[in-house]
Amino acid sequence: MAVSQHIGHWIDGKEVAGTSGRKSIVWDPATGKAQAELDLASAEELDAAVALAQRSFVSWRETSLSRRSEIFFRFRELLDANKRELAAVLTSEHGKVLSDALGEVSRGLENVEYACGIPQLLKGEFSEQAATGVDVCSIRQPIGVVAGITPFNFPAMVPIWMLANAIACGNTFILKPSERDPSSSMFLARLLQRAGLPDGVLSVVHGDKVAVDAILHHPAIGAVSFVGSTPIARYIYETGTANGKRVQALGGAKNHMLVLPDADVNMAADAAISAGFGSAGERCMAISVVVAVGEVAEPLVAAISARLDRIKVGPGTDLDAEMGPLITREHRDRVASYIGLANAEGATVVRDGRQQKFEGDGFFLGASLLDHVTPDMQVYRDEIFGPVLAVLRVPDYESGLNVINQNEFANGVAIFTRDGGAARRFQRDANVGMVGINVAIPVPVAYHSFGGWKASLFGDVHMYGPEGVRFFTRAKVITSRWPDPATSKIDLGFPRNR
Ligand code: NAD
Repeated sequence: MAVSQHIGHWIDGKEVAGTSGRKSIVWDPATGKAQAELDLASAEELDAAVALAQRSFVSWRETSLSRRSEIFFRFRELLDANKRELAAVLTSEHGKVLSDALGEVSRGLENVEYACGIPQLLKGEFSEQAATGVDVCSIRQPIGVVAGITPFNFPAMVPIWMLANAIACGNTFILKPSERDPSSSMFLARLLQRAGLPDGVLSVVHGDKVAVDAILHHPAIGAVSFVGSTPIARYIYETGTANGKRVQALGGAKNHMLVLPDADVNMAADAAISAGFGSAGERCMAISVVVAVGEVAEPLVAAISARLDRIKVGPGTDLDAEMGPLITREHRDRVASYIGLANAEGATVVRDGRQQKFEGDGFFLGASLLDHVTPDMQVYRDEIFGPVLAVLRVPDYESGLNVINQNEFANGVAIFTRDGGAARRFQRDANVGMVGINVAIPVPVAYHSFGGWKASLFGDVHMYGPEGVRFFTRAKVITSRWPDPATSKIDLGFPRNR
């Protein structure tokens, strides 16, 4: 297929064409047309990027904390000044609406701001006189060459989650972005270069399983940070750790929103709409199941259903659109197939997004609402990752909590209630990594850390924030004893008796 735009790798401060001969197509999801051809790296190309990163590490780890901080302050300013341009890149390859794309950039920006504080974040600990004449200090040092492998759904924010802390901590970083929307990574690399980051500290190597496997098996890569689906996260974790690497691998999700009978129904319905259908449901923190307790179910389903009529679906560039297309045709068709499945499994299809018709060949699908879904149904168990919201009715709080805690995934969860006691109990009871109280998408701010439990995270260190700094550094403890200068045979000018 002939396309005019070509995307190569970012190596040593410039875009270079790949040499493997393998390529993939980047689509415009709003039109269904191919918009670019992307080079896919071979193991040899990855190996060359690692060799460059190893050489660059020697001087980058010597770069002072104040200089690193200065570069990230400048990167922050450039990112802010260029956010609309970056948002447009996100919209053109991912499809999300521009307001959503701008929101993504803002959440990424927070992580850059956090990394600006690296001199403060890397302050070690010191114990004077741990024993007589003995001091002990703990410091954190960079790992060396580290890699990040990222998903399609946040092509700017997730790379920033990783690279800001990794690089500020003194590592050199190899980014393998999603091959479906690779341009925002190139955009970030160019901005970092303008901010003063030395060439070679960041490389962007595009690719598929070949590049990923080369990362997982490369002896010089010390740590791998991954975000993506659960089967791949498990594979990355098992393969990376088997090869002696430190790995954090964030996986898929099935996020519930528990609505108690005392909740404000309008507030809960608004939240369900934005958290269920924002970014076409392609968010790892999207709400995909509303768990309605007792008598709230009828008015809540009615309120959500009424709001579905008002969701405007269209190209992300249309400023009135609230929901864009899905990432690929295959993914759109897979998501759509769950609506038919729901019907066959005995759920009530309140709204069938397949009925909405769109002009052109974009990968659009209307919003769907499924009621009377039960935990044994496949539409409940699978991560659908699209604009399909399921409602599960339960008689009481305990049954709702049980459903949530028995789910394989445990990324985010929310409770909607006016009762502080119930909310407090839920935050203790829910076996989920991130909990929202009347907040449907509780993505932590950058100075906390992000991570789920169970099948939503393989490894034990969460992403970004304080845990991100921990992940990208290793601890060293130094115990020191020096003779008392007063006992020196050479006259140092110290008083002999104190
Ligand atoms: P994905 O798992 O298909 O791809 C993620 C990365 O892995 C990409 O870079 C891809 O090239 C690579 N990859 C894909 N198949 C591979 C294979 N067989 N071997 C080696 N590497 C492979 O995920 P996606 O479709 O790009 O993103 C959506 C998924 O990511 C959803 O499941 C979503 O829940 C999840 N996600 C999770 C979080 C979180 O924080 N937990 C955040 C964002 C997305």
